Amino acid sequence: MEKDILVRGMAWGGKIRVFAVRTTRLVEELRQRHNMHPTATAALGRTATAGAIMGAMLKGKEKLTIQVKGDGPLGQIVVDANADGEVRGYVEHPDVHLASNAQGKLDVAGAVGRNGYIHVTKDIGMKEPYRGSIPIISGELAEDFTYYFATSEQTPSVVGLGVLVDRDGSLLHAGGFVVQLMPGVTDEEITRLEQAVAAMPPVTALLDQGETPDEILRFLVGDDVSLMDTLDIKFQCQCSADRVERTLISLGADDLQQIIEEDGQAEIVCHFCNEAYTFNRPQLEQLLAQAKSKMVQ
Ligand code: ZN
Repeated sequence: MEKDILVRGMAWGGKIRVFAVRTTRLVEELRQRHNMHPTATAALGRTATAGAIMGAMLKGKEKLTIQVKGDGPLGQIVVDANADGEVRGYVEHPDVHLASNAQGKLDVAGAVGRNGYIHVTKDIGMKEPYRGSIPIISGELAEDFTYYFATSEQTPSVVGLGVLVDRDGSLLHAGGFVVQLMPGVTDEEITRLEQAVAAMPPVTALLDQGETPDEILRFLVGDDVSLMDTLDIKFQCQCSADRVERTLISLGADDLQQIIEEDGQAEIVCHFCNEAYTFNRPQLEQLLAQAKSKMVQ
């Protein structure tokens, strides 16, 4: 499988900003790590694809979290992404699978829910993180992120997100695009863009034909693209044994004492990557000693 790549650039004399991405490997890794059924794969895959693109809009050490909190059976969807193309995520109930919708497609809106909120939190190195929230308007997610960009970021955008799952549940293709209108864009250019988007096959169909993100971008805006660059997209969790230890120490001496007495061991599973960190009694006693010394300080 080819590596995942994101292409970004400015088009039409700087009046259009465009991103196109292939996330097949990323979404397949999410599927395998979380043992997801197809509808969950599609919902988390679309959100992770949006996350990869929104991460590519950040700079330096900036990072963001997307929370999709709908009233559907999937529960909460959480995706973290950063400017280095690193993405991770999970869905609360990965084993949800619904019957296909009326169009014969995976029923993402039914699984996510058509009521609820999408929250985006960006850590951009300021004291207070940026927070943007929108109500879910469709649950299919591409429309919801379109609405997010228009309202929370005041940037009219076209968003396409696609995840194609094979009959055996494995991933065939995943990818997406975001096209954003910058100041100065004319009505004629907007019409031209709308026509290009309407005439374009679904992203997963283009990927199935072997088209690259670079070619998907040209389907949208033609050849008049400048300032293009690429970013590798990959699954990357930020958890580590060290971080889990610090979390346990932060529980405090009383709670740690209780865990040692009642269970004699502890297993902490990372929500994002499903890795399990286990601690035996001597290790927990060492953490307890550290928690106690913190209390004295
Ligand atoms: Zn992890």
